[in-house]
Amino acid sequence: KQQQQSIEALDKAVAELDLKAEDIKTFADLPLCHATSVGLEKSNFTTLTDIQARAIPLALKGTDILGAAKTGSGKTLAFIVPVLEKLYRVRWTEYDGLGALIISPTRELAVQIFEVLRKVGRQHAFSAGLVIGGKSLKEEAERLTKMNILVCTPGRMLQHLDQTAGFDVDNLQILVLDEADRIMDMGFQTAVDALVDHLPVHRQTLLFSATQSKKVSDLARLSLKDPEYVSVHEVA
Ligand code: ADP
Ligand code: MG
Repeated sequence: KQQQQSIEALDKAVAELDLKAEDIKTFADLPLCHATSVGLEKSNFTTLTDIQARAIPLALKGTDILGAAKTGSGKTLAFIVPVLEKLYRVRWTEYDGLGALIISPTRELAVQIFEVLRKVGRQHAFSAGLVIGGKSLKEEAERLTKMNILVCTPGRMLQHLDQTAGFDVDNLQILVLDEADRIMDMGFQTAVDALVDHLPVHRQTLLFSATQSKKVSDLARLSLKDPEYVSVHEVA
């Protein structure tokens, strides 16, 4: 009951959030649930980076985003915070299956994202897993069906979607494509296209890259709905 009231208050605060406001400087200035706020605090994240300040408020409102900002600008939290908030605000529980999918071009980057997710998401009850190969398909498959949030590489994830019985992605709420430029450069376009074909159309999608290229726009056209373009350029 109390949680329900607080979610209603959060929804209202997000709806009223002024995207043109200049005074969104810290995570505390954003309407975030208690669990996320504490996770950020305990991870020593206080001030928003530019890409976070521009992308997170939009993402909280449910908008699809095509974000571009150079390496090291803080793109990971720009999608992890919206992922946690989305699932929390739709009252996702550990029994609801897969709610969020984060696609990364490489295993190493997937592991890094997973570590940030574990740190910042530590106060949440969601289960999270990595799908990057390295274990047998069967071993991975057993754990897969219980996960709420998965961080994956495209090829391995597609293998599970094609082959793992009982792996239901029909209620997926949010899809993230990180390093979309590298996903394309590494030749994963076909795998990502096939992967997205498995996912429900009614979902939020956040796509991030270090560069804006024609290839990324092609991918965006396939996976995003009326996206907001958020790009942060270096000031010379
Ligand atoms: P990108 O994905 O854009 O290359 P990362 O998300 O990997 O960037 O972040 C780069 C570094 O900046 C990491 O060490 C991360 O912990 C740090 N960082 C990200 N956001 C913040 C923040 N709001 N405050 C302080 N440090 C941050
Ligand atoms: Mg990154």
